Amino acid sequence: MDFLDIHTHKAATEPGVTSIQSLSLTSDIFLAMPKTKPISVGLHPWFAKVDQLALQMKYLTVVANQLNVKQIGECGLDRLRGEKLENQIIILEKQIELAEKLNKPLILHCVKCFSELIALKDRLSVKVPMIIHGFNKNEAFGRQLLSKGFLLSFGTAALKENSGASKLIQSTDSFFLETDDADVSIKDIYSAAAILKKCTVDELKARIFTDWKRLSV
Ligand SMILES: [Zn+2]
Repeated sequence: MDFLDIHTHKAATEPGVTSIQSLSLTSDIFLAMPKTKPISVGLHPWFAKVDQLALQMKYLTVVANQLNVKQIGECGLDRLRGEKLENQIIILEKQIELAEKLNKPLILHCVKCFSELIALKDRLSVKVPMIIHGFNKNEAFGRQLLSKGFLLSFGTAALKENSGASKLIQSTDSFFLETDDADVSIKDIYSAAAILKKCTVDELKARIFTDWKRLSV
């Protein structure tokens, strides 16, 4: 069974690793999208522009229908970068609608906007899985998000002793792991997580892959 890297921006994959490469569509460039390897596509909140949203959504809708597109995103909300928040919410809503229509999970970027994200999930009664990637807040907050039905993915925070991610790995059973844009092997993140969970790397790989299969289309 492969290591699953649920969110990476790198194109290359190590042997024995299934990685979901995240690609952001930008306004006027119709990127040549990989047609077979698993990818996620979306409008990243750093780059998406509300005045180009109609065009961007047209591109995204075409690409998102490809069978190898396993997730919509990363998309989300970022209080520190990108358009003003109300516009980011409009952009995210459109992508949530698309994910619901295609029945594909969302991979979410969220910086200092969790209450807005929770409100959006409630207001739209989102049915597809919403995975918050790169979660690095404290354990109690992670639990709150889990109780709201979000899924969490941890990256390099899993390597830090006493981080919220490390504590959540010890105390929960349904997280995913990722490299994002970090210069680290997913295998090292799994090793660290297996030690925290007091299980073998193979057990962790099997659990994560099974959960992933359950989510994916
Ligand atoms: Zn990312």
